[in-house]
Amino acid sequence: MKCFYCGKHLLLGLALAFMFGCEDEQEAWLEDADTFELRVEENEQAPEVPYEDEGFIAEEEAEAEEVWEGFEEGEEPVAVAAAASVSFPSLSTSAYAAGYCRSTTNNTPVYTSSSVNIRGTSSPYQAYAATVYAADEVYVYSINATSAYISYPVGSTRRYGYLRTSDLSAANFGENITAKASATTYRRPSGASYGSIYVGDTVRAVASVSGYVQVFYTAKSGSRAWKIGYVTQAAYNSMKGSTTAPPVASSWQYPMSGYTVSLGWGGINSSKPANRNRHVALDLYGNNTNIFAAASGTVAAVGTQSENGNFVVLSHTLSGSTVYSFYAHLKSRPNLSKGQGVSKGQIIGVMGRTGGGNGGGLGGFGEHLHFSIMDRLDSGGAYYGYTPAFSGNKTTYMGTTFYNPAYVIQNGKLP
Ligand SMILES: [Zn+2]
Repeated sequence: MKCFYCGKHLLLGLALAFMFGCEDEQEAWLEDADTFELRVEENEQAPEVPYEDEGFIAEEEAEAEEVWEGFEEGEEPVAVAAAASVSFPSLSTSAYAAGYCRSTTNNTPVYTSSSVNIRGTSSPYQAYAATVYAADEVYVYSINATSAYISYPVGSTRRYGYLRTSDLSAANFGENITAKASATTYRRPSGASYGSIYVGDTVRAVASVSGYVQVFYTAKSGSRAWKIGYVTQAAYNSMKGSTTAPPVASSWQYPMSGYTVSLGWGGINSSKPANRNRHVALDLYGNNTNIFAAASGTVAAVGTQSENGNFVVLSHTLSGSTVYSFYAHLKSRPNLSKGQGVSKGQIIGVMGRTGGGNGGGLGGFGEHLHFSIMDRLDSGGAYYGYTPAFSGNKTTYMGTTFYNPAYVIQNGKLP
């Protein structure tokens, strides 16, 4: 099977996990993609496991074939194939990973099939079937770029369904480390403590979120293989054995407060054509709808564009270069003038859903901020939001280099 990001063959395929219900507890079986050994918990009989080389469960594949996904005004709908897999930690060594949804707003939807990137409830779109609440620990049995097959507590039992992967993780750094220091993990950035990482544990960094690093890490108890949580950036640096000091407060900040990332850097929007569906921006939404300048700079352009709606482009100096930050789908055209200076944190607009691409809908929210950082000014605001597959923290497409905004904010420099 191929990794979508690096194009190389992965050593391990995604595990296929199958659930088997019993009264109090659910046990999972999965097939190790390397050995094809079927692992059986306790003394139960293992179910028959369909297996295919590409790591898809046969019945899911049948179910997910050619769904008419959401499309934009004036565009023909695009038929997309079943979700592609990416190199999340293999769950093949034990039953499941445990974690919490990224949302703290008690409204993370659970779907009955892996076709989760679907907005609204009108036909042919799939309505969500249930809700995972903020206090619910979910068990993840398989995960790919689009959907995660999970169970969640209902009373004293557990039920099964699919979450959007973006509701669990923001991106895929793909960095594996062996912990050189211990660390406390948290359910969410600034959330309740969740567990510990010990020296020698395997840790996979998934995303950088608000001064924290989201990690998959090996769990020490229970039948779970991994847990999904957050460590502070400083703790992550210590685990990595970095001799450099934790990054000081960056000259950059997130352009919203209290935000949730509904689609991260490199994330796949499966409503887009399969050869140009990788997000080169961050989609953010939140209750505080003010949009802030991510860094001090100058207003380079203000306007309205068909896909990006009302937008602002700011210019900044960073790492000796001029870069541009872009804020799209704003509620109204901001009252800013070209050439006007702005300070980091200054309100420059209000989150909205203007433009053709506003349906983003990932997370069920039409309103969101599309935020990107580039090396080129397009005074008409006609920036691409999606490119072909890429890896790393920057990519160049059609003459514009896009930088991972999370990296820039975190490090205060260009990748
Ligand atoms: Zn976006």
